[in-house]
Amino acid sequence: MILIFLGPPGSGKGTQAQRLAEMARIAHISLGDILREQVRLGTDLGKQAKEFMDAGRLVPDVLTIELTRQRIAAPDCRAGFIVDGFPRTGEQAEAFDRMLAGQNLQLDAAVYFKITEDQATERLLKRAGLEGRADDNEATIRTRFEVYEKQTRPLIAHYAKMGKLVEIDASRTIDEIFAELKKITAIAAVL
Ligand code: AMP
Repeated sequence: MILIFLGPPGSGKGTQAQRLAEMARIAHISLGDILREQVRLGTDLGKQAKEFMDAGRLVPDVLTIELTRQRIAAPDCRAGFIVDGFPRTGEQAEAFDRMLAGQNLQLDAAVYFKITEDQATERLLKRAGLEGRADDNEATIRTRFEVYEKQTRPLIAHYAKMGKLVEIDASRTIDEIFAELKKITAIAAVL
């Protein structure tokens, strides 16, 4: 099963991706986690990515596309994977479509986590207290929303056109959303 999770920051897609991947025994690919690890290790890539991440802007497509290409080729992705936080731009989406086609793989569904900016901001500010992420502060959160609206939201239409879009009400509790995801993926697996 191959899924992508789309949605604004704070929509809970990371939490759900981790939980679903564990249950379905498939890989969870979080571009944000991969990038934060590179920053922590102080690699060249991490150094390049850090200033964009701290500002709430997107890391250049060339970097994220290459990271994803390498990651989905890893052995643990053979049984399937969930990509959370990628693609986030039209260019990334097209590159991802080509990557899958090149490996004879089929996307099962693009799950769109729908939530209002106010609800998501409240969650992110709560997370700021718990996890201490550098980009979970009010100014950066606002930029991340603007970036999402401008660059990522148009992808909803891209996947709708492909007949792969599934919308989920992400304002509910973690357990409610997970229950719906299980239903959706049971359907996606037989599409
Ligand atoms: P996330 O953990 O998904 O909220 O991502 C944290 C930050 O990592 C984002 O604000 C971006 O700076 C960067 N990032 C994550 N995924 C991508 C992507 N697909 N394209 C560009 N930048 C990304």
